[in-house]
Amino acid sequence: MIPLIFDIKRYAISDGPGIRIAIYFKGCPLRCAWCHNPESQSPKVQKLYTASKCIGAQDCIEVCPEDALTLTRNGIVTDYEKCTLCGKCAEACPTKAIEMSGKLYEVDELMQIIERERVHIEHSDGGVTFSGGEPLMHPEFLIKMLKACKEKGLHCAVDTCGFAPAETLLEVAKHTDLFLYDLKMLDSSLHKKWTGKNNHLILDNLKALATAGANINIRIPFIGNVNTHEDEVRAMAEFVAALPGKKPEVNLLPYHNIAQNKYNKLGQVYNSEEMREPTNEEIGSAKAAFVEKGCKVEIGG
Ligand code: SF4
Ligand code: SF4
Repeated sequence: MIPLIFDIKRYAISDGPGIRIAIYFKGCPLRCAWCHNPESQSPKVQKLYTASKCIGAQDCIEVCPEDALTLTRNGIVTDYEKCTLCGKCAEACPTKAIEMSGKLYEVDELMQIIERERVHIEHSDGGVTFSGGEPLMHPEFLIKMLKACKEKGLHCAVDTCGFAPAETLLEVAKHTDLFLYDLKMLDSSLHKKWTGKNNHLILDNLKALATAGANINIRIPFIGNVNTHEDEVRAMAEFVAALPGKKPEVNLLPYHNIAQNKYNKLGQVYNSEEMREPTNEEIGSAKAAFVEKGCKVEIGG
């Protein structure tokens, strides 16, 4: 199955070394409460609507072949019983108040887009990063892309939540220079509460990847009231320090409450009440806990 791509970011500087092009796959097995890219979670095409951009021109209503749109006091409302997600309304909208998320690309098409960035990539020792969503949900396409990039001498990173069959991960590792591996928390029941899944597979896979000698950068979304408690931080530091092979670098990614707008566009609820931005003291203590275990720590991507 060819995955849908929901974003292609040029000049990406937080997704691995150097200047990179980051390709974002749609579809994720987790449902993290803090997810900043809620449009990444579903593997299907989605429609986003920004009411503040809508000028009520009604071009969308005129072109809709399914009669699925209505102009109300709250803006354009879609009847998803009728909507086929054909995208004609988005094409017709003069202000881009309606946008479609998710586009199919062939390997060759993506390679042409990547090649256009080669100058910046080479001058900065950058590369290509496959992210999401979860790129490991689409292993066949991902491996084709990785092979095509490696043939062109490009550095390849895979940004993963680690929730995938171990054999898939290890196969992908054969073509990957660097994993950006998310670690959320070690308490499995809390992991299930906050992401929808327990963390057994994720932790086992991380150990397997380290045992296989992969180059790994651990990324920890650091969220007040979620994983900032000192017991949790200590447990994560001990786990990372005990991984076999070279000690991975750790990126602590402090949570920012900025995703509300995207959830609004999708018509989804963002339950952010329990989460908060970590304090400077919490960030400093967490950094110290990892440094004490011999890990190099960066704050941010
Ligand atoms: S995506 Fe197509 S079917 Fe759905 S509302 Fe827009 S024009 Fe109508
Ligand atoms: S793993 Fe990443 S993309 Fe998937 S739900 Fe969590 S934050 Fe979002």
